[in-house]
Amino acid sequence: MPFPRVRTRFHSVYGQGGLMEQEWIEISDSSTTTIMKPLSMDLQNKREKLKDLALHLVEDIRPEMKEDIYDPTYQDEVGPAPKLEYVWRNIILMALLHLEALYGITLVPGCKAYTWLWAFLCYVVSILGITAGAHRLWSHRTYKARLPLRLFLIIANSMAFQNDVYEWTRDHRVHHKFTETHADPHNSRRGFFFCHVGWLLVRKHPAVREKGGLLDMSDLKAEKLVMFQRRYYKPSVLLMCFILPTLVPWYCWGETFQHSLYVAAFLRYAAVLNMIWLVNSVAHLYGYRPYDKNIEARETVLISLATLGEGFHNYHHTFPYDYSASEYRWSLNFTTFFIDCMAAIGLAYDLKKVPKASILARIKRTGDGSYKSG
Ligand SMILES: [Zn+2]
Ligand SMILES: [Zn+2]
Repeated sequence: MPFPRVRTRFHSVYGQGGLMEQEWIEISDSSTTTIMKPLSMDLQNKREKLKDLALHLVEDIRPEMKEDIYDPTYQDEVGPAPKLEYVWRNIILMALLHLEALYGITLVPGCKAYTWLWAFLCYVVSILGITAGAHRLWSHRTYKARLPLRLFLIIANSMAFQNDVYEWTRDHRVHHKFTETHADPHNSRRGFFFCHVGWLLVRKHPAVREKGGLLDMSDLKAEKLVMFQRRYYKPSVLLMCFILPTLVPWYCWGETFQHSLYVAAFLRYAAVLNMIWLVNSVAHLYGYRPYDKNIEARETVLISLATLGEGFHNYHHTFPYDYSASEYRWSLNFTTFFIDCMAAIGLAYDLKKVPKASILARIKRTGDGSYKSG
């Protein structure tokens, strides 16, 4: 008679639930024969990913914030993708903005020189509101800022009009944590158009809503300035993104209202949007991965020029807690120069920089071999 078999649950030492599916092993009830199924490739793979996650957490140099650390153990659920739900209001507004910006381009040659300078200044301030503000300060907590600087950054952030800091941060933390899955708001696996702008034109994937809702956002909830901006976001955008950029050239040096509105407001706003979106699209699709070849984020250095330092994206996803978002400091990175200036006058402090030895160890461990020192 064959031995009856007993099925026993295998309990993972790493925990249960979401992180690890339970596996079966089969043990014969004979005292002399024990048949154990070898660990499946799937389980070994998951173990590797858990080890990877543990390493990511250990490498982090910020004890207080872990919500933006990549979780390689998360995988999309198998099954058909939910139907796309278009948000027609956003589609129409975005189309109109881009038409206005195109018209603005035709007006550029007829602008006064001061208007060009003013539009450029508004561009730089808007970008800093995203890079030094929503991104490096509020999403990643890579440095600390005193009130005058936070005030400047929140005003600059309203000028950039890319959702309020609270919402931007939630989308961005979930982008880092679950990058290239359906829980990533601008999942680059869904194609160039989707990760560039399409994600803003459709309803969020249920996984984004679910995982985004679980993030710890208590640091932002406790920050009065951030919650104040959230409360008065619409009037602040109207004032900073459209009214102020238009009124200054018109009132101060007699520019026509039309040139002021279409160049300093619409064209400048559309340019800021597209440059920041390039980080989500191009910097997740094209370029080398010298720091971590297992993620899609890439080094696309030219984007750093347009975004004032956000194109070192493979580095940034590997070390999201580095205030420079790059291995280097001022090279193609005006945002780092700006933060350093703020630190020099005492408005920024506790700047987090990954030690060179950790970077080199990481390059050796997970880089794609394209790293060139010096
Ligand atoms: Zn980031
Ligand atoms: Zn990214």
